[in-house]
Amino acid sequence: MKVILVTGANRGIGKETIRQLARSGHKTILTGRNPDHVRDAQDDLAAEGVITDACACDVRDEKQVRHLVQYVEERYGKLDVLVNNAGIFLEGSDSTKADIDIIRQTFDTNVLGPYRMIEALLPLLRKSGDARIINLSSGMGGLTEMNGGYPGYRISKTALNAVTRIFANDLAADKISVNSVCPGWVKTDMGGERATREVEQGAETIVWLATADKVPTGKFLRDKKEISW
Ligand code: NDP
Repeated sequence: MKVILVTGANRGIGKETIRQLARSGHKTILTGRNPDHVRDAQDDLAAEGVITDACACDVRDEKQVRHLVQYVEERYGKLDVLVNNAGIFLEGSDSTKADIDIIRQTFDTNVLGPYRMIEALLPLLRKSGDARIINLSSGMGGLTEMNGGYPGYRISKTALNAVTRIFANDLAADKISVNSVCPGWVKTDMGGERATREVEQGAETIVWLATADKVPTGKFLRDKKEISW
């Protein structure tokens, strides 16, 4: 059984990922930026019979990230899978009216958040022997099918795909796989009610990358298949 940490897991795709992995018997650590919401999510899952560990962590906050690393080290001594799921989508569709401050905030959470988590947790991931890093990206980060608009979110996900490639290359010698996932358009607070997928399907490729015997590295995947960006 693996030790698996998911960021931004108090709702949406992250919570569903914890649900599926914990049900399969893995040791999961549910994290999120609001301690009350983290506790509520842990309680909700417990009411369904799904037992997960939990620890609050805002991925923008170095001190909270360091505290989380210490928590994982003391309890488990290693980490097998890091799912960088936490993300924000704050803006409207007109790129000519982009608010630089919103772009900065989006970058801090969606790109620097995963970067901080990877750097901080590397010593524990190196102790796994078969570690995996999974970054929640989006088809909107692809440069091959540009539709315009939402510049902060798009740029953040393109950059996250670049983070994936760079770490995949740098960590290949450590046998740590690093991949990006597009979950599709999923019914969550972010995806909205008109989205075409349920959370169960949104979590599918993440769960597969976390648990399959053999997985690729440096790829951007949707429905377990590589897609271009
Ligand atoms: P939700 O908005 O439903 O959930 C986002 C989660 O991230 C929440 O738990 C939120 O916490 C958390 N979060 C936000 N900022 C931080 C932070 N600074 N530190 C820690 N946690 C934080 O989103 P989804 O579940 O839909 O999305 C999950 C991931 O999938 C995101 O990265 C998103 O970009 C990506 N994605 C989603 C798609 C969709 O259609 N839904 C499509 C493509 C990609 P809080 O509750 O406190 O706000």
